Amino acid sequence: MKLDVNVLRYLSKDDFRVLTAVEMGMRNHEIVPCELVDRIAGLKHGGTYKVLKNLLKYKLLHHDRSKYDGFRLTYLGYDFLAIKTLVNRGVFTGVGRQIGVGKESDIFEVAQDDGTILAMKLHRLGRTSFRAVKSKRDYLRHRSSFSWLYLSRLAALKEFAFMKALEEHDFPVPKAIDCNRHCVIMSLVQGYPMVQVKQLQNPETVFEKIIGIVVRLAEHGLIHCDFNEFNIMIDDEEKITMIDFPQMVSVSHQNAQMYFDRDIECIFKFFRKRFNMSFQEDRDDETEVEVDENSRPSFYDIIKDANALDRELEASGFTKKEQNDLDKFIEGGLEKSTDSDEDEEFDDEEQAFGSNEEGNLSEMKSLQLQEKEQKRSDEVEAEVDLDDNEK
Ligand code: ADP
Ligand code: MG
Repeated sequence: MKLDVNVLRYLSKDDFRVLTAVEMGMRNHEIVPCELVDRIAGLKHGGTYKVLKNLLKYKLLHHDRSKYDGFRLTYLGYDFLAIKTLVNRGVFTGVGRQIGVGKESDIFEVAQDDGTILAMKLHRLGRTSFRAVKSKRDYLRHRSSFSWLYLSRLAALKEFAFMKALEEHDFPVPKAIDCNRHCVIMSLVQGYPMVQVKQLQNPETVFEKIIGIVVRLAEHGLIHCDFNEFNIMIDDEEKITMIDFPQMVSVSHQNAQMYFDRDIECIFKFFRKRFNMSFQEDRDDETEVEVDENSRPSFYDIIKDANALDRELEASGFTKKEQNDLDKFIEGGLEKSTDSDEDEEFDDEEQAFGSNEEGNLSEMKSLQLQEKEQKRSDEVEAEVDLDDNEK
């Protein structure tokens, strides 16, 4: 999906008022009835219907007449609300080119007035959501599902909270700048994802640094859960930055060891394949060992003295309830939550989310990666200054 931020220039205060009214209505309506939009927006001189038509033209809303006449936000509509809010807060003034496309996120450069470039990650949970996998959808048909608005907002909130906490504990992560709705603003990492790197000056050093991060994370009570060559950035000085945190779990998670071992295994595998590194465990001949690793880091040895950064994070504004909701989506826990929450009222089959059950996590990843490669060649160039929007 293209983010044509030029449209922002043409949107008036009333347009945003109505767009916000639809967003508010979506807290308890999957399709918001026109009258409700009108009532919430409360435009002084009326005209809600004309505005709705305009928003529809720009694909910020979706019109649905199947049960009654109503509207819901599209991702683009949600993007605009977040971007507008952040621009109003003075976080950035312009949106630039797209620098990353994931299955569940889009990443753009954004610019501040002084020319500083930041990264904007728009979370898109449920965008593709296994719609192609019919059995999954059948499986989920009678389960509760969350709206993509809610889940994407949680993913952003979690990513922001984790990025901040990790930075405070000196982990090499982007600097967390701000967060609104499904959107996270962070510093732009120089360099490239490891997956694009064909050669390293010091593969052993880089390998040890990376394994060191996984170990130190566990010592702090956390597991990345998607720690691979796509989520590790490296610059020309071979400095490492880790990105992409919405799926992180605590070491007290029931599958913690499995996730930890999988993160470690990903790194071993990548370095073995890409940089021809050999490990002691691969060989009988000990003289050929290039990396002094007797065996893989042992999960239980590490977490014995784990610091409770995971507990610290619970106090960061990302509530247990939100964590659980997001986990359900990310890990495919299918139990219905016992708590009540207004956001949970969505049960739109069209927006129902598939889940990546345990065994399908890697399947999902490879799907995601294929898609990424495809879309990377199709970058969006949308240099625009949002400064004069609203004028
Ligand atoms: P996803 O959850 O979709 O995998 P990521 O956070 O991994 O999203 O980002 C996808 C891609 O966007 C990354 O592989 C990287 O190339 C780019 N990217 C993400 N964050 C940044 C950043 N802060 N600076 C530079 N590039 C980034
Ligand atoms: Mg990623």
